Amino acid sequence: MPRAILYDSTLCIGCKACEGACAERWGLPYDDKIAAEERISAHKLTAIETHGDRFSRRLCMNCVQPACASVCPVGALQKTTLGPVVYDAEKCMGCRYCMQACPFQVPSYEWSSRLPRMRKCDMCYARQSQGKLTACAEACPTGATKNGDRDELIAEAARRIAQKPGQYYNRIYGLKEVGGTSVLYLSAVPFEQIGLRTHVPQEPLPETTWRVLELLPDVVSTGSVLLGGIWWITNRREEVARQEGAPKHAGRPPGASKNTPRLEGAPSQPAREEGKHP
Ligand code: SF4
Ligand code: SF4
Ligand code: SF4
Repeated sequence: MPRAILYDSTLCIGCKACEGACAERWGLPYDDKIAAEERISAHKLTAIETHGDRFSRRLCMNCVQPACASVCPVGALQKTTLGPVVYDAEKCMGCRYCMQACPFQVPSYEWSSRLPRMRKCDMCYARQSQGKLTACAEACPTGATKNGDRDELIAEAARRIAQKPGQYYNRIYGLKEVGGTSVLYLSAVPFEQIGLRTHVPQEPLPETTWRVLELLPDVVSTGSVLLGGIWWITNRREEVARQEGAPKHAGRPPGASKNTPRLEGAPSQPAREEGKHP
């Protein structure tokens, strides 16, 4: 049965224990300065935002039908039957199409790293595979973040609304948005007031993506993948050569120059990393 996270903003006290637990699970640094950052980034995979006297959480929504995975040309992102959308850095060629496709502006790129990876929450796939809770849910002292079976969490969310109609906005965010997400939200106020995107499509985005891609000539997608592959191989080989102390351009494949172009359409600036998230 697919797993999910239910975040109930009405129970959140903004303690940020979820942030700290997430950083520890990933081996990422976490101090007062990072705690004060109210956005997700390559070094912070979940963030608590303040909206007046209310709190809200940001993290990858681990969509039921993820747009990021549908555009990845090499299958580096995969939707698992357990629910999490997982990432394989070994397969990733750095094209950053996932960043462009994600309706929630989640994937972050390690712009300053010599061997950059895309970073995002994978809903603690390794932990959940072993029957454990996500680190954030385990750390939450109030039950504002709860991890469990998606259908059961939806039923629980509906129960909470029914039992305390005056306390909740009468909707569950994530039921229908982009065809459904693995992170569900409850709130006392309309979701846009706690920073959630309410104008996203109600249908799965991969369907839209593929409808658009089907209109493009094969040569466009094939050429882009090829260029991206050459770019990735060249950079990887140069990096390995540098680390091993070999001559600067040793190991470059025939025909590839040091100025091998970046993948067409990929963002060249870290515009999203510093941007505000949904
Ligand atoms: S929120 Fe974005 S990165 Fe996360 S699974 Fe959905 S499309 Fe992919
Ligand atoms: S599910 Fe795991 S990776 Fe995702 S925010 Fe929670 S602790 Fe971090
Ligand atoms: S640990 Fe729970 S209560 Fe604390 S900020 Fe995170 S979601 Fe809110």
